[in-house]
Amino acid sequence: MLSYRHSYHAGNHADVLKHIVLTLCIESLKEKEKPFLYLDTHSGAGRYLLQSEHAEKTGEYLSGINLLWQQATVPQPLTTYLQVLKRYNPFDTLKYYPGSPLIAKQLLREPDKLNLTELHPTDYPLLKQEFSKDKRAKVLREDGFAQLKSKLPPPSRRGIILIDPSYEIKEDYQKIPAALYEAYKRFATGIYLIWYPVVSRTQTQRMIDGIIKLGIKRVSQFELALKPDNNQKGMTASGMIVINPPWKLHNQMETIMPWLLSVLDTEKTGNFVIKELVSE
Ligand code: SAM
Repeated sequence: MLSYRHSYHAGNHADVLKHIVLTLCIESLKEKEKPFLYLDTHSGAGRYLLQSEHAEKTGEYLSGINLLWQQATVPQPLTTYLQVLKRYNPFDTLKYYPGSPLIAKQLLREPDKLNLTELHPTDYPLLKQEFSKDKRAKVLREDGFAQLKSKLPPPSRRGIILIDPSYEIKEDYQKIPAALYEAYKRFATGIYLIWYPVVSRTQTQRMIDGIIKLGIKRVSQFELALKPDNNQKGMTASGMIVINPPWKLHNQMETIMPWLLSVLDTEKTGNFVIKELVSE
């Protein structure tokens, strides 16, 4: 039951927030020379053509990355994210949006490693092709949640783990706290990034409460809402739960979030949250 295709949503406001946090976390791990693992449990296709039938059908990127692309200047902590985008779009037009694996591909160093999993029969070969010449990467058509048991801890004992399901299967909301528990038991010092949508606030909050109840320390939340919670169909907000956030991340997000909201919240109905859910 894999009907979700990220090509309809690539570059939307949720991707922008997710990939900004991802970029900042990768850059912070690079401050030390020691290599690390980037584990992406739900990788998608990797590269998305924005002038495709899928992207044009929803037009989501127009109210996401397209608005950032038009800015003459960005706050300093966003420069790396924009540089990655420019690498995939060397001309003025924004043609491709790089998904999480391609952002990591661009930023990781030669001794770092990537473990990427994607189950979709169409997206998996596309992702595999993107990494066909990249010796750092393992690209697998396997269940992403299972990687949290089988691939942790990494030999380097350093790593970023992105957990980014589509939530098309409602069990994903319950699976995440349980999978995190298994992962954290094996690798308590990793940086874990869990993306979530707000479609039903109750459902999302239940999942976040489930994570808090695990007893894990150092858990932060960064959420960007473009609309207040409501009972209508569709995503009003999205966020990232970060376990073991790098020490600079809160300050960086304090700079980024008000700016991001001012650029993306064209209807002036939005808000953002920066919160430490569990401290030391
Ligand atoms: N992380 C990507 C990015 O930021 O560019 C987007 C990923 S998209 C939100 C979620 C992907 O997970 C979809 O491509 C879907 O096919 C895939 N997927 C769903 N269930 C999965 C599973 N159990 N293991 C691995 N991939 C899965």
